[in-house]
Amino acid sequence: MRQDFRICIIGAGAGGLSMARALRRHGIAYDQFERHSDVGGVWDQKNPGSPMYDSAHMISTKTMSAFKGFPMPAEYPDYPGHRQILAYLRSFANAYDLRRDITFSTPIKSAVKEDGRWTVTLGDGEVRHYDGVVAATGLAWHPRMPSYPGDFSGEAIHSSKYKSPDIFRGKRVLVVGAGNSGVDIAADAARSAAKTFLSMRRAYHFIPKHIFGMPADIFALTGSVFPMKIQQYVFAVVLKLLNGDVTRHGLRKPDHLPLASHPIVNTAALLHMAHGDLTPKVDVKRLEANEVVFEDGSREEIDMIVYATGYVHKVPFADPDLLNNSGEESNLFMRTISRKDPTFSAAGFVEINGGVYQFYDEFNDIVANYYRDLAGNSPRAAKFEEIVRSGAYDVSGNVSYVESPRHHVYANVLQSARQVKKLKRAMGWKRLVESEMRAPAETSAKPAIKLQAAE
Ligand SMILES: Cc1cc2nc3c(=O)[nH]c(=O)nc-3n(C[C@H](O)[C@H](O)[C@H](O)COP(=O)(O)OP(=O)(O)OC[C@H]3O[C@@H](n4cnc5c(N)ncnc54)[C@H](O)[C@@H]3O)c2cc1C
Repeated sequence: MRQDFRICIIGAGAGGLSMARALRRHGIAYDQFERHSDVGGVWDQKNPGSPMYDSAHMISTKTMSAFKGFPMPAEYPDYPGHRQILAYLRSFANAYDLRRDITFSTPIKSAVKEDGRWTVTLGDGEVRHYDGVVAATGLAWHPRMPSYPGDFSGEAIHSSKYKSPDIFRGKRVLVVGAGNSGVDIAADAARSAAKTFLSMRRAYHFIPKHIFGMPADIFALTGSVFPMKIQQYVFAVVLKLLNGDVTRHGLRKPDHLPLASHPIVNTAALLHMAHGDLTPKVDVKRLEANEVVFEDGSREEIDMIVYATGYVHKVPFADPDLLNNSGEESNLFMRTISRKDPTFSAAGFVEINGGVYQFYDEFNDIVANYYRDLAGNSPRAAKFEEIVRSGAYDVSGNVSYVESPRHHVYANVLQSARQVKKLKRAMGWKRLVESEMRAPAETSAKPAIKLQAAE
């Protein structure tokens, strides 16, 4: 192993922490930099620009959302709130003693490959050199704002600025965008605003947090032995049984099967629609002073618009082509590793139809295996680089996703588990073993439920 081999991890949210643990386990030296004063990333409301709002909860369960070998506390509810996730991430950093290699309050200004090594410039101008860079800088820091014809005379904010429903009191509110944050915010507004509207570009499936008494992601796992198309049809029937005909709330009938878009795990919004406190609308057509005109010709007087229109996925301090995406959408091997230069990876640049942390662990372990082979001058490193560039090992699953920027970074849990297994076998790399990943003080902790990756 080369003695001077060193990696730079940028960011200490969940993705960066998972990567740090992976590198430690493989004996690879690294430095980690975080611009904020503590770990936690988006889950820390004190991290400037964090999109976390007071009512935010996970949409994946504590059982499916934990890092490998580090279960969430048994006393947590099925769907932990943002303060609990922040506490969990901090206890993870402490349990694996990850803080000692993190330099806080230090933003990275640039990372450039020069003469085979990475030149990384810190916020204070200091320059350091590394053999690899991991941008674990998150997907939710660069708000995407839509542009509509006309002018709006009321107040308009991006959802990343929303914290609590006091701002809605007495107002007529329009939330644009029906991702999980948009639907949560619309449900918050429905309880406090004078009137709330939710504009949706297309019709979506609303998945209850519990299905027949079982958390939705665990219920979905029970059907995972069947081919994806069958799972999708069965899920459609189950949702019809549970939610009935959603068009009676003014919603359109979904034009795609469940799992063909990121799930909206929220039925509070349906309840508010049934109460008449939340009115679904189609896409916005134009803005006219204090009115919003919709594609179906209807118009509403609006005081405040919340644009829950997502984020641009980028790494502003590095060459955009590393993400292979002309600066916006990423196309990374296993949603993590740059096809242009595999010594650069973007940990945490993945969204998945379930808890994402165990997949951070899986994908980051692949990165760590590669770095170890590279540091040891093993011919496996070159073999892996060839695989990365080949386009093999697709993790999106056999699902045709609806067109949306978020689906460029989307992965399917079972397909990801299968592909990781297949890749590791091809590379001769050891699979992750949950019991070997426990923190020293946690050796008796119960492991999280394991995904059974079918061949
Ligand atoms: C409302 C909401 C609900 C969610 N629910 C779920 C859920 O149910 N299940 C699930 O699995 N996931 C969920 N997520 C996804 C969530 O993003 C992930 O859980 C995860 O925490 C993201 O971790 P990350 O490390 O990739 O990014 P982040 O948490 O964004 O961390 C990135 C870190 O990098 C730092 N940074 C950025 N740029 C620089 C720089 N130039 N220099 C130094 N540091 C930098 C930032 O300060 C930050 O600390 C949810 C997200 C939101 C917003």
